[in-house]
Amino acid sequence: MPSFSELGLSEYIVRAVSEQGYTSPTPIQQQAIPAVIGGGDLLAGAQTGTGKTAGFTLPILQRLSTSANAPKDTAGRRPIRTLVLTPTRELAAQVEESVRTYGKYTNLTSGVIFGGVGINPQIKLLKHGVDILVATPGRLLDHHQQGTIDLRNIEILVLDEADRMLDMGFIHDIKKVLAILPAKRQNLLFSATFSDEIKTLADRLLNNPAMIEVARRNSTVDVIAQKIHPVDRDKKHPLLAHLIKSHNWSQVLVFTRTKHGANKLVEQLGKDDIAAMAIHGNKSQSARTKALAEFKDGSLPVLVATDIAARGIDIDQLPHVVNYDLPNVPEDYVHRIGRTGRAGATGEAVSLVCVDEFKLLADIEKFIKRSIPQEIVDGFIPDPNAKAQPIQLRSFEARGRNQNAGRGARPAADAGRGQPRQPAKAGAQGGPRSGHGDARHPGSAPAARQSTQRRSGGRGNG
Ligand code: AMP
Repeated sequence: MPSFSELGLSEYIVRAVSEQGYTSPTPIQQQAIPAVIGGGDLLAGAQTGTGKTAGFTLPILQRLSTSANAPKDTAGRRPIRTLVLTPTRELAAQVEESVRTYGKYTNLTSGVIFGGVGINPQIKLLKHGVDILVATPGRLLDHHQQGTIDLRNIEILVLDEADRMLDMGFIHDIKKVLAILPAKRQNLLFSATFSDEIKTLADRLLNNPAMIEVARRNSTVDVIAQKIHPVDRDKKHPLLAHLIKSHNWSQVLVFTRTKHGANKLVEQLGKDDIAAMAIHGNKSQSARTKALAEFKDGSLPVLVATDIAARGIDIDQLPHVVNYDLPNVPEDYVHRIGRTGRAGATGEAVSLVCVDEFKLLADIEKFIKRSIPQEIVDGFIPDPNAKAQPIQLRSFEARGRNQNAGRGARPAADAGRGQPRQPAKAGAQGGPRSGHGDARHPGSAPAARQSTQRRSGGRGNG
């Protein structure tokens, strides 16, 4: 296996990587690093957990630090030379943190901009200038519209988690961004899946790209110990409290299906003296940042998240993931449990499954092509005569996507918070586009997708 320096990275970058404790490049890094250093376009099939972020960040740092100094822009600022677009704020923040970490011994600078927070500090940052900018599409366009960003010197464009961006309705924003960028540039597209929509985007964006595909996460599933605890619907919460206490779990990420469910669970765990916080779309950015930071540094043992909020959360070697509710979409199961056992570490994923969810479980097992071992916990034997009930979802969540899907609407500024797509009105984007708050648009497009599937699943159950 080649070392990082054999892949063409300078000692400054290799030093930062070694400090992270990485001893050898992951498969995606082995392929992506030389390809990107070579200067060509890249189409990479890789999911979170494969080391993809370093896969594009390291060679970009290498290119920017060795290529001739780009001229200052007309205002004398440091021009933005690389733009990384991500679907969510969390991912944007994490990618930029990676850029900082890996680039600490280079003299390159980076910054991050996303919606839902004040625009003024970002304007200041952009005035000062950065070499590498990580952004969510909506806020980037806000800046463009206000004339506070100059993208004419972009040499490298990265679309990270492109499939998620399309899922969240960002295609129009992406097209707008592409139209602003200089035509001659290097393009890197990362996506976990390759739908026809992604292929169309790739065809349009990429010029004779190198293609890399690393193992899908359903095969990473191999390193994660998975277990089902069958349990009665109303015993899930005491069972979770029991598991956390009896195993002394000190860092566990718990998934619930709805924001309401997340809040309720946090409250219930609190009554059992288990400190927990929720992160989901109705929480303010500062509450989410705080919860995530405390969870990461080990002071908060339990983080309760919905699928959308959890996207892009990167926590090294998370030991335990609990599916408090099974997701309605089998792929989400794989995404959830992939939060543990990352980059070679082993982890454990436990699902609390009640009679209502047996159909969902069957779908998941089919998708991952294996059956998951079941273990009944002492004291939590499920009632064998229990009848399945349709899984509840608040009705406005179900309406969100159905009303708006496919109308070419622009999603709210922060897709990470999971608002529904809003129908575009002519001229609606004329004004400043800050302040797309959750409060105005409760609900969730992906949640609605779940509801659609749930309804068909429900019929299958009955
Ligand atoms: P990503 O797929 O970019 O979300 O990265 C997943 C995790 O793998 C991150 O926590 C990285 O810190 C970690 N990671 C990235 N590259 C390596 C490597 N070469 N060796 C060990 N861990 C890595």
